[in-house]
Amino acid sequence: MKSDRLPVAIIGGGASGTIVAAQLARRGVHSVLIDGSGRLGKGVAYSTTEPAHLLNVRAEGMSVWAGEADHFVKRFEAEGGDRRGFAERRLFGRYLGEILDEAVAGGSTRVLETEGLAAERRDGGWRIRLGNGETLDAAALVLAIGNQEPEGLREFAHANQRLISNPWGAAAQAAVQELAESGGNALLIGTGLTMVDVVLSLDAAGHTGSIVAVSRRGQIPRSHTEFDAAPVKSEEVPSGNVVELWRWLRRRSAEVGWRAAVDSLRPHSHGLWQSLDAGQQQRFLRHARPWWDVHRHRIAPQVADTVARLIAEGRLEIMAGRIVSARNVHAALEVEIRRRGAELPRAMLFDYAFNCTGPLHSISRTRDPLLRSLLDSEAVHPDRLGIGIDVDRCSRAIGGERLWALGPLTKGRYWEIVAVPDIREQAAEVAEDIARELDE
Ligand SMILES: Cc1cc2nc3c(=O)[nH]c(=O)nc-3n(C[C@H](O)[C@H](O)[C@H](O)COP(=O)(O)OP(=O)(O)OC[C@H]3O[C@@H](n4cnc5c(N)ncnc54)[C@H](O)[C@@H]3O)c2cc1C
Repeated sequence: MKSDRLPVAIIGGGASGTIVAAQLARRGVHSVLIDGSGRLGKGVAYSTTEPAHLLNVRAEGMSVWAGEADHFVKRFEAEGGDRRGFAERRLFGRYLGEILDEAVAGGSTRVLETEGLAAERRDGGWRIRLGNGETLDAAALVLAIGNQEPEGLREFAHANQRLISNPWGAAAQAAVQELAESGGNALLIGTGLTMVDVVLSLDAAGHTGSIVAVSRRGQIPRSHTEFDAAPVKSEEVPSGNVVELWRWLRRRSAEVGWRAAVDSLRPHSHGLWQSLDAGQQQRFLRHARPWWDVHRHRIAPQVADTVARLIAEGRLEIMAGRIVSARNVHAALEVEIRRRGAELPRAMLFDYAFNCTGPLHSISRTRDPLLRSLLDSEAVHPDRLGIGIDVDRCSRAIGGERLWALGPLTKGRYWEIVAVPDIREQAAEVAEDIARELDE
């Protein structure tokens, strides 16, 4: 069979994979969406069943269709929501599922609930080895595998019995239930959006014990609120230098408020990131990123209220500090934490610790078998920061033919490419590029 009549294989059925499959279906391009995690059509973020987990982007920003801004708003309004509101993430998961069902019903998309294990070039296309023992021949390959799992925590190397390394897995849910029933104490390592998710789950389950969340700077995501936008033109923003950009941001924040200043950079973020050389990008990741993340990726006001209430009640402590050591003692964890500024660490007892440090950043250490196979065969290469793979301006993997990547895997090129408003644009561009390539 001619490889162009074969389907496009999409590895990963989260938001990125689902949206690109739907975009291909609109162009009459057949695809097979492959995901064996049980989260097909939802992915990690939107498979939560916890009503307290809300979107951190207003409904009006969450359409999956580039150019159809109100598509999700209509869905949310049908459930009584408001365009400026923050929907439950599980509703967005249902919405994504409906998009996928539509593509499947139209006959252009097929789903395969299994893992992609390896891929190699074959007759101008790709042959993919699957976890169900089968192989799939495809005209093109799209990697939409999301974030890599967090790395193990060095300090817990000999104390991992009560460490939950994946905060969204079944073990995390069981630990939350156990903590709620026992009133036990929880340690959350990391104070970003993942920490907020675990705190919300514990609170919703009726947990009454104490929660300590620790990170080096102790910064937590800020809240959304209404403000007047203050757009800027790209020429007004300094490019090529992180320090100058930071100074500009501080000045602009004083003039128009930090939310308006931060958000004014959104339309320019890809260009600004690409204007930085590798050294400047590393500087951003090392020094500016913790501050950028908490101001840029804000939480819904209702979520911020819950976090504030728990802090006020003394049930949640946000600590700036460092884990020094951890060991299992009987049925608990003894963890030594040195607070920022303190000379000596203090030992504290916890029933569970959750790794909320966020996704793996070194792509060469990935445990994903399919990505591993592509890295080993040099069909893909790590980007210059090693946080994703090297892609060109069409999100084609550099070094691999008929191979595209989407979402977090392309962070090295775009940096701001993990939220739906960015992913939907990228998915539309990738689908267009694939359709063009297969048509030639
Ligand atoms: C908790 C959380 C909340 C978020 N909230 C928002 C929000 O409110 N608004 C917003 O815009 N953005 C939000 N984001 C960011 C963003 O929407 C997600 O990161 C985005 O959905 C990424 O989707 P994805 O499909 O690229 O990755 P994922 O959702 O991680 O999906 C990737 C899928 O690929 C599968 N996979 C991986 N390897 C293989 C393989 N070898 N074979 C087969 N399948 C494989 C995985 O099992 C997974 O199901 C949130 C992110 C998280 C983590």
